[in-house]
Amino acid sequence: MMVYKDIQEILLANPKTWLVTGCAGFIGSNLVETLLSLNQSVRGLDNFSTGYQHNLDDIQACVTLEQWNRFSFIKGDICDYEQCLAATEGVNVILHQAALGSVPRSINDPIISNHSNVTGFLNMLTAAKNNGVKRFVYASSSSVYGDSEELPKVESRTGNLLSPYAVTKYVNELYAGVFRRCYSMEPIGLRYFNVFGKRQDPDGAYAAVIPKWVSALIKKEDVFINGDGETSRDFTYIQNVVQANILAGMTENEEAFGRAFNTAVGGRNTLNELYHAIVGELAVHNEEFVKVDPIYRDFRAGDIRHSNANIDAISVLLGFEPTHTIKQGLEASIVWYIENLK
Ligand code: NAD
Repeated sequence: MMVYKDIQEILLANPKTWLVTGCAGFIGSNLVETLLSLNQSVRGLDNFSTGYQHNLDDIQACVTLEQWNRFSFIKGDICDYEQCLAATEGVNVILHQAALGSVPRSINDPIISNHSNVTGFLNMLTAAKNNGVKRFVYASSSSVYGDSEELPKVESRTGNLLSPYAVTKYVNELYAGVFRRCYSMEPIGLRYFNVFGKRQDPDGAYAAVIPKWVSALIKKEDVFINGDGETSRDFTYIQNVVQANILAGMTENEEAFGRAFNTAVGGRNTLNELYHAIVGELAVHNEEFVKVDPIYRDFRAGDIRHSNANIDAISVLLGFEPTHTIKQGLEASIVWYIENLK
């Protein structure tokens, strides 16, 4: 089995053309940056619904001019099939990240989440098929485990879904399986578990916990913990997710096609532990942060108590080996937020 380092060498020697949807968002922009730094040709598609031009500008600042010139951007919407068809033409691999994230957003407006996450997904998958692009790696989510209390989570055992968002991601997996069986496509789903890292949006009602807390602490605003803080998650640094996408994009292991894999570190930290790790890391840069206490409030509707991934399947079938622990990821992310949240 080839490891990530070998795959990177292969890509450098034989560059490919990739399509990254959701390229102006958090995960998409990190994928584009890594692919460009490996001298790949990358096409990006985004409608800026939750992504930003400044993320694209930040990628440009991180790569050479020659690498940046291998990037082309389409401002477009995956809900428009013709735009999906144009975007998928002539590419080798698709990394489909575009979707409306957030469980609470989908509870507030299930129709709009369904539109991008299901209709948009099916448009992309169909456009890929019609353009003969077999390899279709896509973002699924740990939310498909629903109310299952089993730990760690194993791919084959899911519970009752708890949100419209989870339904959309589950439907993605069903369609991907069917496109494997009906059309011999090579879809691979990645069930992300609480991803964090640079460029993750700290603002807005639907911001994720790590950027929200880091931003509040830097700006000396209140930090809220939902519940007693003993809720736990498998927090996954972005570079581990980038690795999983590239391995899935390049694998020749047919057993992986049509399946969805846990994409995580396989660890578990409570919100209280996370808070202390963030405060401790911020204190390395400014000791004032040690003094700030969080404010506890009610549990959030739809949240499961604990989450933690079994990563055996992705390790065995794709050769995945996480490179960053939560601590290493927090160190890198916090440096970035301190420099960029001025
Ligand atoms: P993000 O909001 O930062 O990025 C999503 C991007 O998709 C944005 O740039 C947005 O403008 C774009 N987009 C949304 N709808 C679109 C449409 N109809 N047409 C074109 N572009 C559209 O979110 P992210 O955290 O980078 O998430 C990327 C993917 O990973 C999503 O599919 C999300 O559901 C999934 N995911 C993320 C996490 C996480 O912890 N961040 C966990 C599980 C799954």
